[in-house]
Parts: sequence; C-alpha cells; structure tokens
Amino acid sequence: MNFHPQARPRHLVLVLGDQLNQDSAAFDGFDPACDAVWMAEVAEESTHVWSHKARIAMFLSAMRHFRDALRAQGVTVHYRQLDDAANTGNFRGELTATVSRLCPKRLIWVEAGEWRVQTCLESTARALGVDFEVRPDRHFLCSREEFARHARGRKQLRMEFFYREMRRKHRVLMDGDEPAGGAWNFDAENREAFGKEGPGDLQAPLAFAPDELTREVLALVEKRFANHPGSLARFDWPMTPEQARASLDDFVAHGLPHFGRYQDAMWSGTDAARTHAALRQHAFLHHSRLSAAMNLKLLDPRVVVAEAERAYRQGRAPLPAVEGFIRQILGWREYVRGIYWQFMPGYLELNELQATEPLPAFYWTGDTDLNCLRHVIGQTLEFGYAHHIQRLMVTGLFALLLGVKPQAVHEWYLAMYVDAVEWVELPNTLGMSQHADGGLMASKPYVATGKYIQRMSNYCAGCRFDPAKSTGDDACPFTTLYWDFLLRHEKFLAKNQRMTMQLRNLARLEATTRRSIRKQAEKMRSALASAPRS
Ligand code: FAD
Ligand code: SF4
Repeated sequence: MNFHPQARPRHLVLVLGDQLNQDSAAFDGFDPACDAVWMAEVAEESTHVWSHKARIAMFLSAMRHFRDALRAQGVTVHYRQLDDAANTGNFRGELTATVSRLCPKRLIWVEAGEWRVQTCLESTARALGVDFEVRPDRHFLCSREEFARHARGRKQLRMEFFYREMRRKHRVLMDGDEPAGGAWNFDAENREAFGKEGPGDLQAPLAFAPDELTREVLALVEKRFANHPGSLARFDWPMTPEQARASLDDFVAHGLPHFGRYQDAMWSGTDAARTHAALRQHAFLHHSRLSAAMNLKLLDPRVVVAEAERAYRQGRAPLPAVEGFIRQILGWREYVRGIYWQFMPGYLELNELQATEPLPAFYWTGDTDLNCLRHVIGQTLEFGYAHHIQRLMVTGLFALLLGVKPQAVHEWYLAMYVDAVEWVELPNTLGMSQHADGGLMASKPYVATGKYIQRMSNYCAGCRFDPAKSTGDDACPFTTLYWDFLLRHEKFLAKNQRMTMQLRNLARLEATTRRSIRKQAEKMRSALASAPRS
C-alpha cells in the first residue's frame, strides 16, 4: 500500500541512473506505506562531458523503465523528467526542491559511482539540514574497505594477485584449493587474430527494438541534445533486468565459447558488406556487450560469473574462454573500482608523463585518413561501443603516443560510451591507457607501432599508410609516434625493466633516423593541434 504522494515520507530513497537495482542496500527496510523513492533526470549529467546521444538515452530510458517497474509495485516515486518545465538541470537543485516540498525525515542512498556526485549529494543534504545515510554498494564483490585492506602496505597493486584472492574467496573456477585446469591464467591460449579469412559467419548479439518508452526518450534526446556526438539510429541496448538477463544467456550460448581466443581481435567488414547486420557483427564480434547493463545495475556480476562457470562445468564453453571472461569481471572490473575509490579525488589530476597536447578534433567525428581510427571512432559514433582492444590499442594508444593531456582523453571516453561511468572509465583511461598514474595500475605503458594493429585487425589493408614505416609520406603515424614516444620518455622508461627490450631496439636507431622521426612527429602534432574544432 503506498501513501499519498505529497505526504511526508519517513525515508526518501535516492536512486541514481546507475543504481537501477531493487535488491540494493538502499531498499533494505523500505516500507511503501511510509517511504518513497526520488529519481531525477538532470541535464548536467549529459553535458558536464559532451555525451554521446546513445549514452544519454541509455541512462534515461533505463531509469524510466525502473521507475515504472517500481510504480507498478505500488511504490511512490518522485520522478523529475528532463522535459519537465521546472527542471533545474542539476542534482543540487532537484534534491533541494523535493526535500523542501516533502520534508522527509531521512535521505537514504547507496554510495554514488562517481566522486563528484557523491560529494554533491552529501553537501546538498548537509546544506538542507536533513538527516542522511549512505549505504555501501553491494553490487560489487569487493567492498571499498576490502580493497583498501588489500592495498595496504603493498608497493605495487597488480590485478593478477587481486584476482587470485577474489577467485579463492568467492570459490570461482576452483577445484578444491587449486584453480580449475591447474592454472590461474590462460592468456597464452587467448588473443588470436582472425587471420586473412576474417571472423566468418558470426551470430549477431541479441538486439532489443526500442519500445514506446525508449522511443519517447530517443525523440527527447534527439531534440534536446541535437548537437551532441553520435547516432541513435542503431540503438538496441537492453533496458530492463529481463532484457539484460536475455543478453547474458544469448552471449553464454553463442559468444562465450570463442571469447578468449578472439578477445583482442578487431575486424572491419568490406564496404560492400556494410549492412546493418554486418556492422553489428563486426562491432561486437564475440564480446558480451554486457558492460552497460552491469554498470547500470540491471545485471548482477555474480550471476554473470556463475553462468559463465556453469557453461564450462557443463562442457558448453572451453576453460580458456571462460577464465578469460571471468577475469574481466571478477578481476579487472572489481580492481579498477578499488583503484578509483582508493585514489580519488587526486587520481583525476594525475599526469605523470606531463602530456599537454589537445585531443585531435577528429575524435569527435571520425574524419581522419588513419583507417584504424576512422573505423573505431566511426563505430563508436554509430553504436556508443568499442571493445577493449579498440579502446586501448587504437584510440587510447594514439592519444598516448601523441601526448594528449590525459584529462582531455578521460573526458572523451566518459562521453562516448554507453557503459561509461567514472569509477570504471577513469582508471582504465588515466591508468591503463595513458600511464598518467606512473604505473600504479599497469606495470608499463601500453605502447606499440602500427604493426600491432596490422597483426590484430584488417584495418591496415585499407589504409594509405604503411605500418612498417616510421618516416616519409606513407609512414604510419602510430609507428612514427611510437619511436617518438620512446625518444621523448627514454629516461623515464629506462627505470622500468619491462621496457628493456623496446629501449634496446631504440638504441639501434641511427641519429639521422631519430631526428627525422622527431621532426615528422612534431609536424604531425602541429597539424593536428591547428585542425578546426567543432
Ligand atoms: P567484454 O569484452 O565482453 O568483457 C566482459 C565484461 O568485463 C565487460 O562487460 C566489463 O564489465 C568487464 N571488463 C572488461 N574489461 C574491463 C576493464 N578493463 N575494466 C573494467 N571492466 C572490464 N568499461 C566500462 O564498463 N565502462 C567504461 O567507461 C570503460 N572505459 C574504458 C576506457 C578505456 C580507455 C579502456 C581501455 C577500457 C574501458 N572499459 C570500460 C573497459 C572495457 O573496454 C569495456 O568494459 C568493454 O569493452 C565493454 O564491452 P563488453 O561488455 O562487450 O565487454
Ligand atoms: Fe592505422 Fe597505421 Fe594501420 Fe593505417 S597503417 S590502419 S594508421 S595502424
């Protein structure tokens, strides 16, 4: 039984756009007879970085579906839509208006996924003089306190050790006290390229045609954020827990058996095959596309991990594929969240390599003759999606080699992906991709020449540049910038044993070649910095 919507609630439960889970701690003890829920769509969350239209739509539509599910159960939801005339456009304004009107006895929320939002909610509640309680986010398998204990006293934080602890603690892929199959890690059997023949016939992942609620949101976003990047034409993401679960089942049946082997491979269909179906298949390949559903809390990572392990135990997927997939979720996903909360807010400002270049304008349009970047950015604009290696070893790599200011790179990643939430995006960008934390997260910078991209994809086949060349008109910019990066940071990198081989190769370069590389890289930098911005 709910109560009158204007009555004074005992508890007002705040639910943010990435907290769409009725099993969360915020609902512990919730009594619909005297408690109510508050949700607000605020423009600031879409504009503090210049968000992709699909990212905005993903959050808004999932929120509206969640609101309707709560209301259908008789819960009172005070919900502010973006298109309500009185919308103040930010959390502070919206919360102040609701609290002033309803005078709840207490505010309750689960810790936000972003330091900025958590701080804003706390300072607003304090300013309003209302009692409040922040509860831990039990969506994650590792709490912030547990990660802090893991980090205490360690000189280096490495994902692999953390991951093993998680496997043992949660009894995942364990045979007694030993890891299933006798090894913690099957990387050697993973990470193949597709070869000349390409990925062959792929089963496209499950698509969800927008329902009426989603169509309303798409129209709103198209109108309100008309000048934002990205397209909504291919929007077919799961919006509800049921759809997210169906996506998981579909992935376990079709993608998981091939996941590890082709986890790093990239592919672009030929122009003739650029149908909608082919574009989707080549964008998602054997990846799960579950990140957004998990990050919005439509899907519990425990369920994802358990279903993957079940597929292995029942002989439906090989161990290297299942271990590779589980490591991403039980390992990387939990680990980056730990890093985020352990080192925020200072982490946001890190810039160990003192990179200062602006982000090239083509990151927002895909308008470049570097075929790999054109493809990955184009796919990002179309779907709001790129897989890990496309993010790390194409867009991320280019920005790192060019020397782009890490905070500019961070803003781009936070804006462009449907799964982007700061706790997961920031350590991946600043730490793993840009080495801006000086090696806190990754033991060495992820740097490579264009030959890596040539090996892992078919992008170079359609490109006017030659990945083997570092100087000259047809030199691959990645290759030029790779050597330039080593030259610029030689002293810093010399302290890192894992860079020895790369520096040894650098030492073999003639002085004249070094000069030509530096000159060509500088020319490229000034051309990109002076290109018109949108
Ligand atoms: P799959 O390849 O199917 O992997 C399965 C799941 O593992 C993912 O759904 C995701 O939840 C998890 N996972 C995989 N890799 C990572 C990782 N490095 N860190 C955390 N979780 C991981 N992921 C986000 O969810 N949001 C982001 O904003 C984000 N920004 C990134 C920025 C950069 C520069 C890089 C290099 C990576 C980023 N990632 C981010 C991690 C990763 O690229 C995505 O999680 C993945 O591509 C999502 O696609 P998928 O669901 O098909 O993943
Ligand atoms: Fe990218 Fe260089 Fe390959 Fe062209 S040649 S696709 S720029 S890696």
